[in-house]
Amino acid sequence: HRNRTGLSCTESPHNDGVCGAELTSDPRLGVSGALQIVLSDEEQHRFSLDDEALERMLLQERVKDLHAVVLSVAGAFRKGKSFLLDFLLRYMYSQGSDAWLGGDDEPLTGFTWRGGCERETTGIQAWSHVFVVEKPDGSKVAVLLLDTQGVFDSQSTIRDCATLFALSTMISSVQVYNLSQNVQEDDLQHLQLFTEYGRLAMEEIYLKPFQSLMFLIRDWSYPYEHSFGLEGGNEFLEKRLQVKQNQHEELQNVRKHINSCFSKISCFLLPHPGLKVAINPHFDGRLQDIDGEFKRELVNLVPLLLAPENLVEKEISGSKVTCGDLLQYFRAYMKIYQGEELPHPKSMLQATAEANNLAAVAGAKELYTRSMEQVCGGDRPYMSPVDLERSHEELKQSCVRQFCGVKKMGGEEFCRRYQEQLEQEIDEAYASFLKHNHGKNIFFAVRTPATLFAVMVV
Ligand code: GDP
Ligand code: MG
Repeated sequence: HRNRTGLSCTESPHNDGVCGAELTSDPRLGVSGALQIVLSDEEQHRFSLDDEALERMLLQERVKDLHAVVLSVAGAFRKGKSFLLDFLLRYMYSQGSDAWLGGDDEPLTGFTWRGGCERETTGIQAWSHVFVVEKPDGSKVAVLLLDTQGVFDSQSTIRDCATLFALSTMISSVQVYNLSQNVQEDDLQHLQLFTEYGRLAMEEIYLKPFQSLMFLIRDWSYPYEHSFGLEGGNEFLEKRLQVKQNQHEELQNVRKHINSCFSKISCFLLPHPGLKVAINPHFDGRLQDIDGEFKRELVNLVPLLLAPENLVEKEISGSKVTCGDLLQYFRAYMKIYQGEELPHPKSMLQATAEANNLAAVAGAKELYTRSMEQVCGGDRPYMSPVDLERSHEELKQSCVRQFCGVKKMGGEEFCRRYQEQLEQEIDEAYASFLKHNHGKNIFFAVRTPATLFAVMVV
């Protein structure tokens, strides 16, 4: 039961068990909803993480060990991010049907979108349902959709946003930078500010710290200069990011910096969706009220981001990251936001190295536990302690080897601390396996009355 997008048909949107999500009433979306996973406290200039919600999402058995594809749409509020995300959801839920865009008179649901100009929360929302998609090579990946929103209206909010956007860029494999009408010098400067965090990471790992960045320009109104879509967008962006001799040095640096931070940069030009979308208060998202040109470009854009063959797995320092790992990264990055001060790029790097090592520890420890279960788990017979110790020593060595083989940041000494942690955790696990094994021996002994008697006499 495979179809064009590779979404497996057993995939059900009705099993998230989300609490605290902004739920929709659309039966097609089931009980899924938008979860506020990162929330900003604007007065305190702090961020908090909904750790429980995130854990419920990322540690579900069905996705925990799958490589994660994380698509974030980021930008200022009231620029059509949620509106776009809802079309991304339609694509994901329609499981590869050519009619994914929907019927002419169906209201658009999912992430809540609204008109008006009232200020909204700064933070990161995630769609609670994680999609499992099969790529053309047969591998399965877990796709997460994020909505990253900030306000750039004062010096302090710009600084908050920079950290927030840095966080979402570090976490995502594709960052869609949603902009209105054009790429302004301001937009580039904001981008530079938050990619500043990547510069130090780069020095350490010799790889570009971020993966894919797509500038998405809404309400593009110069199609006669650069046509709508990806090709026109890339031409436009190349011109916009070009470093010129006579440019002010600061402008040159912004451009060089952005180019050096991302493995891939692209741009897509979207037309204006029409006046009903922009200003009619009764507009509920139905296709019949949206301009044809916009819909035509939308049909090109969405598969570029989400078709199975285009999905980009999240990599950190050159290794693919599972949903389980991603939780470690989220936690590590958030930890540095708990302090009084806004994090310094250096601590961002430190956090990456830490999460990097913790994920490697968790992976190696799991290998140990799994292998030991096979040797002396609950359903295995009692083993002589000498044999058990031999198995333990062998497995411990191979797990430490696996840990050392994983590409990690932070330098040798830093990583050695985590290797020690791993060895200690393995020894602790061994102690409990040993006890368990011992227990089986007594059980064996007391099973027959004769030995029971013998034990009692002793
Ligand atoms: P968000 O705050 O960035 O998530 O923006 P929303 O998705 O909530 O949309 C804000 C308003 O912009 C809504 O009234 C939408 O109907 C409208 N809108 C959505 N997409 C576009 C677009 O491409 N151009 C314009 N001009 N308006 C849009
Ligand atoms: Mg929104």
